[in-house]
Parts: sequence; C-alpha cells; structure tokens
Amino acid sequence: MERKTSSQFLRVKCNDCENEQVIFDHASTSVKCSVCGRTLVEPKGGKAEIKGEIIEVLK
Ligand SMILES: [Zn+2]
Repeated sequence: MERKTSSQFLRVKCNDCENEQVIFDHASTSVKCSVCGRTLVEPKGGKAEIKGEIIEVLK
C-alpha cells in the first residue's frame, strides 16, 4: 500500500523503450526517459504522477 506522507524512490520502466530508471516519487520537476525522452514523472505539487510502469519500490 502507498503511504502518502512518505517519499520513496521507485524503479520505473518506460512504456515506449522499456528503459528502467530510478525516480523520486515527489519529484518537483518532470523526469524524462534518458533513452527516448518520454516523460516518466510529472510533478503534481506533492506526490508526482508516474507515467511509466512501477517495477520496484526502493527502500
Ligand atoms: Zn524510453
């Protein structure tokens, strides 16, 4: 389950090129795939919106 008050690092897979990238779920700027440039995370003034597939939650 998600805990809204805690921030986490997530391993996210790009939907377009399957590149895996570690992102911060409270990112304040958008994060793009380092391979194809697709937006993986968009800031939402708190918890960011994840645009790719979350593979793993890192502790
Ligand atoms: Zn990509």
